[in-house]
Amino acid sequence: MNFMSQSQDSVDPVKLEKLAEVAIKVGLQLQSGQDLVVTAPVVALPLVRLITKHAYAAGAGIVTAFYSDEASTLARYQYGRDESFDRASDWLYEGMAKAYANGAARLAVAGDNPMLLSEQDPAKVGRANRANSAAYKPALEKISNFDINWNIVSYPNPAWAKLVFPNDPEPIAVAKLAKAIFAASRVDVDDPVAAWADHNANLRSRSAWLNGERFASLHFTGPGTDLTVGLADGHEWQGGASTAKNGVTCNPNIPTEEVFTTPHAWRVEGHVSSTKPLSHQGTLIDNIQVRFEAGRIVEAKASRGEKVLNKVLDTDDGARRLGEVALVPHSSPISASGILFYNTLFDENASCHIALGQCYSKCFLDGANLSQEQIQAQGGNSSLIHIDWMIGSGKIDIDGITPDGARVPVMRQGEWA
Ligand code: ZN
Ligand code: ZN
Repeated sequence: MNFMSQSQDSVDPVKLEKLAEVAIKVGLQLQSGQDLVVTAPVVALPLVRLITKHAYAAGAGIVTAFYSDEASTLARYQYGRDESFDRASDWLYEGMAKAYANGAARLAVAGDNPMLLSEQDPAKVGRANRANSAAYKPALEKISNFDINWNIVSYPNPAWAKLVFPNDPEPIAVAKLAKAIFAASRVDVDDPVAAWADHNANLRSRSAWLNGERFASLHFTGPGTDLTVGLADGHEWQGGASTAKNGVTCNPNIPTEEVFTTPHAWRVEGHVSSTKPLSHQGTLIDNIQVRFEAGRIVEAKASRGEKVLNKVLDTDDGARRLGEVALVPHSSPISASGILFYNTLFDENASCHIALGQCYSKCFLDGANLSQEQIQAQGGNSSLIHIDWMIGSGKIDIDGITPDGARVPVMRQGEWA
């Protein structure tokens, strides 16, 4: 399909431009003279051009965009040499890591077809993901350690739109997905930058309350779930805008509805069921049920994608432990839209979630000054992966448990108590 097809006409150009403006001014707070590295699917070219325009208008140094293409990715799986699946373009990621070390900001445009690799050999998908994760590590660390300001926004890729709205013709599906992305990203209002300032203030007051309570653990109960998530020693709740180590205050995820912190990698007990399907690098994993002992997943099942799930869990030692726990009210705008996006950036913001793998050092008190060893000693997890999956619904209750064992209601039936 030609990416300049009619589907592009389904995307409101005014709101698309507001999304580009929000990405630069709110998502990145791009600084004067700062370089910018952009990655995007080739279908998102109209958005990348607007982002580039707003970046230069904001005083960017050099803007460099890298594009991925679905047909080219599939060609690799069809015709690529078998041994190549254990390799990745490490030179590219090394270059990106170098750009970030030199002060560049990072913007990812999401919107890939979540089902792109669903028909491909899971072993090859797993090998390629593993090689990619290893090669990407030097660049990803700059992001997960929050060394630099970074941001993700989404573009309504037609293949993604057809998955979300399978019964609509493509232009209608794209228009509906575009509308949903614009609403969730708060760019369907007159002054999106002001709307984001209000939203950030709300999220900050939630995380301030949780930081004041200093819970030792959170207890989740609901259908198929009885899970105690110990919180890391010296954990700090975050939500909305936060300040990167380079001093820039930005909103890495657009949209965002979550307040989140670091669980203790060794103090998670019980069982939990996913409440929405997880779309992981081209495969859907559905009805996940796992059991934790001393922080480690000792049993994992899924009604769909179980093999991929188990491959993910075998990535490394930290892949079976938690690196994030996040609270999102069931009435959040994304949840209220009733749309299942098959995209973690959106679906995680419709629901409380946990993440397997790497923790965020910024979710510790004085996190910027802690060494990797200190973070681990306080219960922070380390892994090549960070995969969020959804465990919240209107049927979940959450109690905070204080260090002396008292229970404080945090959420009831999916809403702040
Ligand atoms: Zn999260
Ligand atoms: Zn996460």
